[in-house]
Amino acid sequence: MPGATTLIRDIGTLVTGDPELGEGPLGVIRRAALLIEDGHVAWAGPAARAPAADTAHEAGGRACLPGFVDSHSHLVFAGDRTEEFNARMSGRAYTAGGIRTTVAATRAASDAELAATLDRYVREALRQGTTTLETKSGYGLTAREEARALRIAAERLEEVTYLGAHVVAPEYAGTDADVARYVDLVTGPMLDACAPHARWVDVFCERGAFDGDQARAVLTAGMARGLKPRVHANQLSHGPGVQLAVELGAASADHCTHLTDADVAALADGDTVATLLPGCEFSTRAEYPDARRLLDAGVTVALSTDCNPGSSFTSSMPFCIAVAVREMGMTPDEALWSATAGGAAALRREDVGRLRPGARADLMLLDAPSHVHLAYRPGVPLVTDVWQRGARVVHR
Ligand SMILES: [Zn+2]
Repeated sequence: MPGATTLIRDIGTLVTGDPELGEGPLGVIRRAALLIEDGHVAWAGPAARAPAADTAHEAGGRACLPGFVDSHSHLVFAGDRTEEFNARMSGRAYTAGGIRTTVAATRAASDAELAATLDRYVREALRQGTTTLETKSGYGLTAREEARALRIAAERLEEVTYLGAHVVAPEYAGTDADVARYVDLVTGPMLDACAPHARWVDVFCERGAFDGDQARAVLTAGMARGLKPRVHANQLSHGPGVQLAVELGAASADHCTHLTDADVAALADGDTVATLLPGCEFSTRAEYPDARRLLDAGVTVALSTDCNPGSSFTSSMPFCIAVAVREMGMTPDEALWSATAGGAAALRREDVGRLRPGARADLMLLDAPSHVHLAYRPGVPLVTDVWQRGARVVHR
């Protein structure tokens, strides 16, 4: 019904994400209400001043938060890597191909299989409060396969990233000249096939993947075709990724686990968000990034799942928040901000990640009095209801 309004009332703690609407950087309002109209937030404020509405939803004192903005995932894939994880966690050597195992399975899968898998994890994320989700190609590694992955993703999601430069395709692995030919493919015919289906271009800038010069070539070629840059940077070791991301004005440098003081300073001076992906360190028993160091330097920090079948097979933003608070020096308020408004910043979005008038009505209720419980009660499924563009799409 166009123009119909819904009032969510008896909210215990409302996180607006707008300091002008409430207390602190999260803009918290106690005993609040929120009005939805035409898929957007029409009003948010104290319950006592709530406007009239066509229908009402009783929150029963629960916390109401912006939907999570998960700005980094790899969900167009097929195949299973359970045994690789099991071996890693059991201290056993495992020699199968890592990402290449997924590449082989993804190439062999039908469009319908890839779409069904993506739908499954989008839905799984939604049930845990994620209302905006970015995903990437990167398991096809041919022009046709990468374009197919992006087309399937773009039919379902707004935020789609071309990651032909995930790893060097198996057909090109070998000499430096072979790798150079693969970069020519990624910046040439593969880009031609992929650019129409993507908003972003990304590269895995890391020893063993693509070096600084190759990463620069991939990003600038994508930018010349209208794609916006983001970078897998400084995950496994120090490297040029973060500096390159800042220099090119990338929306986000993702991972940021191994940073020099100069990297931190560059992030603080630029407008590139540092997106931290704690599921990855958790699932590989690696050292976590130091969120505290970044926040204290004034860097904008986002949290994301990096959901993928190899190194971080979680779609749960609440899990990432709990780990970030426990292991990375973030306060519960900071972690929630990074999982909502921070994720929106990493996607250069103004319309999601906050609950202020005009924003998209993407929000959730928790079976808890405040957002602090996301870290205080780790592993507990607290999300009871999710609205996306004003429609209640999850309810328990
Ligand atoms: Zn990734």
